Amino acid sequence: MIFKKRTSPLYLLQLQALLRRLPNTHLAYPKVEYEHAKQMKGHRGEEAVEYYLSFLPKDTYSVFHNVRLPYMNSFNKVNYFQIDTLLATKAELILLEIKNVSGTLHVDYEHNQMVRTVNDVEEGFPNALLQVKLQERQLRTWLVQYELQPRPMRSYVVISKPSTILRSTGGPDTVTPSLIHAAQIPYLFTDEPLSASEPSQLIDIKQLQQLILSDHRPFYKDILKYFNVSPQDLVTGVVCKECETPSMKWWWGRWRCQACDAHDRQAHIQSIKEYVLLVNSSFTSAEIRAFLRSENRQQTHRFIKSFSRHYPLDLSGRLYHCSLSQLSDS
Ligand SMILES: [Zn+2]
Repeated sequence: MIFKKRTSPLYLLQLQALLRRLPNTHLAYPKVEYEHAKQMKGHRGEEAVEYYLSFLPKDTYSVFHNVRLPYMNSFNKVNYFQIDTLLATKAELILLEIKNVSGTLHVDYEHNQMVRTVNDVEEGFPNALLQVKLQERQLRTWLVQYELQPRPMRSYVVISKPSTILRSTGGPDTVTPSLIHAAQIPYLFTDEPLSASEPSQLIDIKQLQQLILSDHRPFYKDILKYFNVSPQDLVTGVVCKECETPSMKWWWGRWRCQACDAHDRQAHIQSIKEYVLLVNSSFTSAEIRAFLRSENRQQTHRFIKSFSRHYPLDLSGRLYHCSLSQLSDS
């Protein structure tokens, strides 16, 4: 049963919004394009693994995708850890770290490194097996915070591309069973582990589900600051879905594109969403009016009202607040 679906991560939505709103002559544009392609590749890899997860018995496995939880580190500071996919049975927790890499992936156990080779070009990565082991430890700390007893855990690095060749040196003769191709998933997790456990040691899945959903914090980046883009650099106006130009004008109850003549009643929703993703999740009506290049104050109020039907807003004074987790439940 899927308790937390995989949707487009907030950061990916931010990158998509920035590509739409940044002139392609801007100095940061190539960097944003590169980062977007990288994040998109990772997201596609995670989606590809979904197919193999669909073979797991649905009454035994609870699936949580893209989980990001806070925990207190040893210096008493709040840190976050992220799990691509968490599988929970009543007896154990299984963590999957998904990698979408092509070519040959070489695990060097001596130096704890992963080296990817494509067309004779080598590229080093941090060892994802260590990364997922660390997530296991962080998950244990998180469970203890809620006075839940740490349960048996397993973790895997899942390679989403079937054509990726796996090799290893400096460790076991074969590649460790923790590094797997996605196609192995249905064969690894079909056992029914319930009978081996004492009833008192079983995981309360409902409680786990409630805690994960209430504690989940989607990753959000101050994206303009990160790419050194000023809010004034962004293209304003309502963007046409058909031709991607920001030249829509509100005319007799609908948006009309001045470039291609397309019509759309709801085009302001996406534009206000892009403002929230890029500039600020709190805004005044005047700020939205300037961003939409709307001439009419009352009409802008109506746009904000119709936006709040899709993404509920809180109002304090003259400031509207949009909860970021509403923009994507990732
Ligand atoms: Zn158009």
